[in-house]
Amino acid sequence: MPPEPHPNRPSQPMWRIAIAGGGVAGLSLGLALKHALGDAVETTVYDPALARDPSGDRRAFALAAGARRMLQALGVWDAIDAGAQPILDMIVTDSRLADPVRPVFLTFEGAVEPGEPFAHMVESGALTAALLGACRAAGVDLQPVGVRGFTSEREAVRVERADGASEEATLLVAADGARSRLREEAGIGWVGWSYPQSGIVATVAHERDHEGRAVEHFLPSGPFAILPLAPGGPLGHRSSIVWTERNDAAADLLALDKDAALAEVERRFGLQLGHIALETELRAYPLAFGIARRFGAERLMLLGDAAHVIHPIAGQGLNLGLKDAAALAESIVDAVRLGLDPGGADVLAAYERARRFDTVAMGMVTDGLNRLFSNDALPVRLLRDLGLGLVDRMPVLKRFFIREAAGLTGATPRLMQGEAL
Ligand SMILES: Cc1cc2nc3c(=O)[nH]c(=O)nc-3n(C[C@H](O)[C@H](O)[C@H](O)COP(=O)(O)OP(=O)(O)OC[C@H]3O[C@@H](n4cnc5c(N)ncnc54)[C@H](O)[C@@H]3O)c2cc1C
Repeated sequence: MPPEPHPNRPSQPMWRIAIAGGGVAGLSLGLALKHALGDAVETTVYDPALARDPSGDRRAFALAAGARRMLQALGVWDAIDAGAQPILDMIVTDSRLADPVRPVFLTFEGAVEPGEPFAHMVESGALTAALLGACRAAGVDLQPVGVRGFTSEREAVRVERADGASEEATLLVAADGARSRLREEAGIGWVGWSYPQSGIVATVAHERDHEGRAVEHFLPSGPFAILPLAPGGPLGHRSSIVWTERNDAAADLLALDKDAALAEVERRFGLQLGHIALETELRAYPLAFGIARRFGAERLMLLGDAAHVIHPIAGQGLNLGLKDAAALAESIVDAVRLGLDPGGADVLAAYERARRFDTVAMGMVTDGLNRLFSNDALPVRLLRDLGLGLVDRMPVLKRFFIREAAGLTGATPRLMQGEAL
C-alpha cells in the first residue's frame, strides 16, 4: 500500500500510528516509535487523562529489570532513577494471621546481573510524568481526547474522536486498559474470570530502613506484600503494601476509620521496621484474570491491559504491558525499515507470535500461585512449604525465578535487552 507522502517532504513516506490510551503502555509505545523512526512516522496518543497532571498518583509498581533497561534505552530512566528504590532481596513467609512467628521459607538475593537489581519500585505519577516529558521532546502528538470508535478499511483506519472529529491512520493501537472499549468494538473475545478478592494498596511510613528488602507474607486470605520505596515521608522511610483480601473483608477494611485501618495494617506488617503510619489511605482494586482471544484485528492491535489482565501476586501486569510495547515497536520499526506496511497482517502476526505464549504463561503462573497460596487447608500448606523449602535449596532454580521476575526469560524484545531499535 503506498503511504501518504509527508506534507513537507514529498519524497518521504509518512505512516501514522494512532494510540488510544496514554497509560504507561501506550506512552511507551509512542515514544519507542518516535525514538527509532523520527519523522518517518507520525504518532498520536489520545487520552482524556492527558489533560490532568499525573504527578500526584502515589501508586507504586515493581518494575522488572527488563522494563528498566527499556526505559533506559528510551532515555526516560534518568528522570526517575533518584526516586526509584532497587529491590535488593526478598523473603517469603507462609503463616496464619494469628501465628506468633512467621517462618521464612524462601529467600532471594535480587541481582539479575552483578550490580543490576531484578526490580525497582517506582511511583506511577513520576513514571507517567517522565514518559510524558520524553514524548513531548520526541515529538509524539498528545491529544487530551478519547477515542469513541473506529472504522477499519483495507488500507487505513478511521479513528473517531470523542469530540466528533475523525482522523485517518495506518494502524490504531488500543492501549485503553482492562475494560477496553475498542477491543469490544472490534468484536475480539475475552476469556477470563473475576477473583473473589480485591487488591488493597497503600503507602506506609516507618521508622527503620527496609534496606531494600521486599517481603511477601502468604496469609490464608491471600498474599500481603511489603515493597520498599525510596526514603521520604513523615518517619523517614516508606514502603508500599499490596494486600489481597476477600471482597467482603476488603469492603469492611475500607470502611474503617484511620486508626482502626492502621491497626489492621500493623497486624500484618509487623513491628520489624519500628513504628508505622499510613501515608496514604487504603484503596482497593477488583482483581481479575483475562486474556483477549486475539491481540488484534484489521488495522487494530491490543496493548497492555487491553490485551490481558493478571493477578498482582507477582507484580507483573505492567511489566507485561511494557514487553508488549517493546515487541510491537520492534515489529513496526522492522516493517517500516523494510518499506512494508506497519499496519498490515504480517506485523500483527509477528506481534502475536512474540507475545501470546509469554502472556498466557505468566497469566497461568500468577493464577496458580494465587490458588496455591490463598488457601488454608493443612495438606496444601504442608506441600507448598515443602516446595518453597526445596526451591530455597536450589540455586539454579532460584536464578531462573529471578530472571523470570526480571522479564528476561524467553524471547526478549531488543528494547528489553537495553538495545536501541
Ligand atoms: C493492586 C494492583 C497492584 C499492581 N502492582 C503492579 C506491579 O507492582 N507491577 C506491575 O507491573 N503491574 C502491577 N499491576 C498491574 C498494573 O497496574 C496494570 O497492568 C497497568 O497499570 C496497565 O497499564 P496500561 O497502560 O495497559 O493501562 P491503564 O493504566 O489502565 O491505562 C489505560 C489508559 O487508557 C485511557 N482510556 C480509556 N479508554 C479510552 C478511550 N476510549 N480513548 C482514549 N483513552 C482511553 C485511560 O484514561 C487510561 O489512561 C497492579 C495492579 C493492581 C490492581
